[in-house]
Amino acid sequence: MSGPVLRLTDVERVYQAGEVSVRALAGVSLSVRPGELVAVMGPSGSGKSTLLAVAGGLDTPTAGSVEVEGVQLGGLDPTAVAHLRRDRIGYVFQDYNLVTDLTAAENVALPLELAGAGVRSARSAAVAALDEVGLAAEADRFPDQLSGGQQQRVAIARALVGGRRLVLADEPTGALDSQTSIAVLKVLRARIDAGAAGVLVTHEARYAGWADRTIFVRDGRLVDATPERDDPRRLLGESS
Ligand code: ADP
Repeated sequence: MSGPVLRLTDVERVYQAGEVSVRALAGVSLSVRPGELVAVMGPSGSGKSTLLAVAGGLDTPTAGSVEVEGVQLGGLDPTAVAHLRRDRIGYVFQDYNLVTDLTAAENVALPLELAGAGVRSARSAAVAALDEVGLAAEADRFPDQLSGGQQQRVAIARALVGGRRLVLADEPTGALDSQTSIAVLKVLRARIDAGAAGVLVTHEARYAGWADRTIFVRDGRLVDATPERDDPRRLLGESS
């Protein structure tokens, strides 16, 4: 079996604001394997966004380690972290974050072109990625010609184009009605089932149901988690 796509070990993040220090994460350990979607829930200010930022190399832990596909982020210089982010990690945000004057296909192709792919091969990979989220026919539309749910599916295609295997989603359904949210989560689930790994921050317990397990964050700590469901034998106390 291949190792986890994401592994956090004893991660701590303390923010220093003048005299006051805030422990946003306190000893968080978490592994996410290929094919696995982990939902993160918790009250506002509990550390969910910090968790995603640290997992994605956008923020640096004050202690502990973050590993993406076996690479320790702490051992890399900032340029190498930026490259790893670009090549291996996709983000999905509540407000889609598409470039408004690029078409859907151009948005999805962008990370590949930034990584040095030719325009043509980037375009064909982008169209294939759009096909996987059910939007091949919308490839040449601009974001403002797409519904919110379609824009979010473009963002999922962009997050996972070109063999990237880690998607970090921060309230991706926050701006969508419940029917559209379910359509978006189905697409995310399908991409994860195809071999990616995902972390989904959500306020909605019913959406967390799309994940394999849910972790709860309070005051920077993981306080509870549903059991991993990968191996039912473990629940029966048998070894595998
Ligand atoms: P959540 O996403 O669950 O709402 P956050 O990760 O945004 O929580 O924040 C966790 C804690 O860290 C909060 O107390 C917040 O005020 C604090 N925090 C987050 N970012 C910063 C920062 N850049 N500087 C200082 N404190 C921060």
